[in-house]
Amino acid sequence: MQGKAVSEGIAIGVLTVYRKHIRTGSITGHLGSVDEISRFNSARAEAVKQLEQLRDTATKEGNNVNVALLNSYLVMAQDPAYVEAVEKRIRENPLPAEVAVEKTRDSICRLFSSMDDEYMRARAEDISDISDRVLRILMGQNHPVVSVPDGKVILLADDLTPSETMQLDKDSILAFVTRRGSNLSHTAILARSMNIPAIVALDYPSDCDGKMAIVDAYSGTLIIDPTEAELDSYRKRKEELELREKTLAALKSEECMTLDGKHIGLMANVGSIEDIKKAVEYGCEGIGLFRSELFYLDRDDYPSEEEQFKAYVEAVHMLDGKELIVRTIDIGADKQEPYMQFKHEDNPAMGMRAVRYCLGHKNVFSTQLKAIMRAAVYGPVSILIPMLISIEEVWQVRSVIAEAKTELDREGKEYRECRLGAMIETPAAAVISDLMAKEVDFFSIGTNDLTQYTLAVDRQNTALEFICDYHHQAILRLLNTIISNAHDNGKKVCVCGELAADTTFTGDLLRMGVDELSVAPGSLLKVKQAVRGSRIKV
Ligand code: PEP
Ligand code: MG
Repeated sequence: MQGKAVSEGIAIGVLTVYRKHIRTGSITGHLGSVDEISRFNSARAEAVKQLEQLRDTATKEGNNVNVALLNSYLVMAQDPAYVEAVEKRIRENPLPAEVAVEKTRDSICRLFSSMDDEYMRARAEDISDISDRVLRILMGQNHPVVSVPDGKVILLADDLTPSETMQLDKDSILAFVTRRGSNLSHTAILARSMNIPAIVALDYPSDCDGKMAIVDAYSGTLIIDPTEAELDSYRKRKEELELREKTLAALKSEECMTLDGKHIGLMANVGSIEDIKKAVEYGCEGIGLFRSELFYLDRDDYPSEEEQFKAYVEAVHMLDGKELIVRTIDIGADKQEPYMQFKHEDNPAMGMRAVRYCLGHKNVFSTQLKAIMRAAVYGPVSILIPMLISIEEVWQVRSVIAEAKTELDREGKEYRECRLGAMIETPAAAVISDLMAKEVDFFSIGTNDLTQYTLAVDRQNTALEFICDYHHQAILRLLNTIISNAHDNGKKVCVCGELAADTTFTGDLLRMGVDELSVAPGSLLKVKQAVRGSRIKV
C-alpha cells in the first residue's frame, strides 16, 4: 500500500492500530455500589455535556460528518443497555466505576468488532469513544493516554495530534503510519525529530491489527503480510542502511565545512530535553530551534516560570557552552490545549498563533521570557520570535522583554540579556526583511510556514501536497532576498525549516549564502555529509 514517506527508515514488525483507549491500571478502591453508580452517572453526564459542545461547534462549522459522528456517540452515551451494563458490573462484582466502565467497553467492543455487520462494527468505535471519555473524567485526566501494548510495534492511526505523538513511548514504536497528515504536519516533524520511520496519507485496512508488516519509509510503502522473499530483501536493506549509519557516525567529530573551506553552522531542531541529548550525541553545534511550545502541550495549565527556568537550565547544562535558541511559544493552529481557551477560528493557521498569541497574552509571554533570560546566566541563550509580519511586532516584543527585565530586577532575580532573532516565515517578513534585519540580531528562516503562506497551501492538507513545492521559484526568490538583506545589515541567516535537511538542495542553499542549517537530530550527520561534499564557488 502506498502513502507518503515523511521520516526515513525501514521497520519490520507487528502492526497495532492505535485506538485512543485508556487503561485504569491499578485502581482498587471502591466506595460502595450506590456511590460508584452515581460517580459513573455524573461522569457520563459530563461526557454528554462535552459531546454536545463539540457537536454544536461542528454544527457551526458546517462539518456534517463530525455532527453525525458526535450524534452517534451521544446516542450511545444515553443508551439504557450500555448504562445498565456498567451499573450491573458495579452492583454485582462489586467494582469501582472506572474498572466497570473499562470492562464493559472491552467486552462490548470485542463482541461488536467480531460481527460481520459493518454497522455493528462501527458501534464498537462509539462505545470506545464514549467509554474513554467517561473514564478520563472519572480519572481526572483531560487528555487521551496513548496505550501501546508491550513490545515494539508499528503504530497505525487515523491521525495523531502533536500531543499524542509526544505521549508515545518512543522505545516501543518501530514506525508510524497514519491515514492523514502531510510532510509538513507537526506529527511528521515530531517523527523526524524522534528518528522514527513514518508514512502519512496511507489508507490502511482497519482489520490489520496484529499482522506482520514492513514499513519502507523511503518509498512510502506498507507491505502487510510480506512474503519470505520480501522479508529477506528488506532485512538485507536494513543491514545496508545500518552500515551507512555507521559511515555517517564517523563524521560526528568532523568539521561541517564545504569543499572550498566555508564553515557552516550545523544546529539542531528539538522539542524536548531528550532530543537535545540526541542532538549533542550527533555532534550539533547548538540548538537552532527549540520548539518550546511542546512544553505547553499535554497538560492542564501553563508551565510556571520556575518549571520553565529549570528545563532551560537543564538544556543549557547539556549543551555545555553551545548556543540554545529558544523559539518562543508557537501555539495556536494545530497546537493548542483546552486550558488555553482558544476561541473558535474559521482559519486557525492564519489566526491567533505564535507571536500574535503572545502579544495578546502578555503574562504568558512574559513568564516565558523571564525563564529564558534567567537561564541565560548559565550559558548562551537566544530568543527567536515566530510568525512575525511587521517591525512593530518586534518593537512590542522588545517592550515586553523590557517589562520582564524590570520585574526580574524588582524580584532580585539574576538574568542576562539575550540576542533576539526573527523567524522569517511569512511572505510579509520576507519582503520587509531589509527593515526587519535592522531590528533584530539574526534571522532564522522557517521554510515550512514560508512555503505554506507564500503558496497559499495548507501544510496539513494531504490533498494539496502535490503543489506544496518548497523549491518553488517564489520561495527561492524570497530566500535570496532574505539572505542578501540580512548580510547587507551584517546579520547571519539560519534555515530551520525542513528544507534545511533536504540534502538534494544543500549546495543550492549554501551558494545562496546561508550561514547555518538547523535540522532534526537524526538528519545532522547526513546534512554534514552533504555540506562536506558541496562547493560554494562553482
Ligand atoms: C517553519 O515554519 O519552517 C518552522 C521551522 O517552524 P514550525 O515547523 O514549528 O512551524
Ligand atoms: Mg513555523
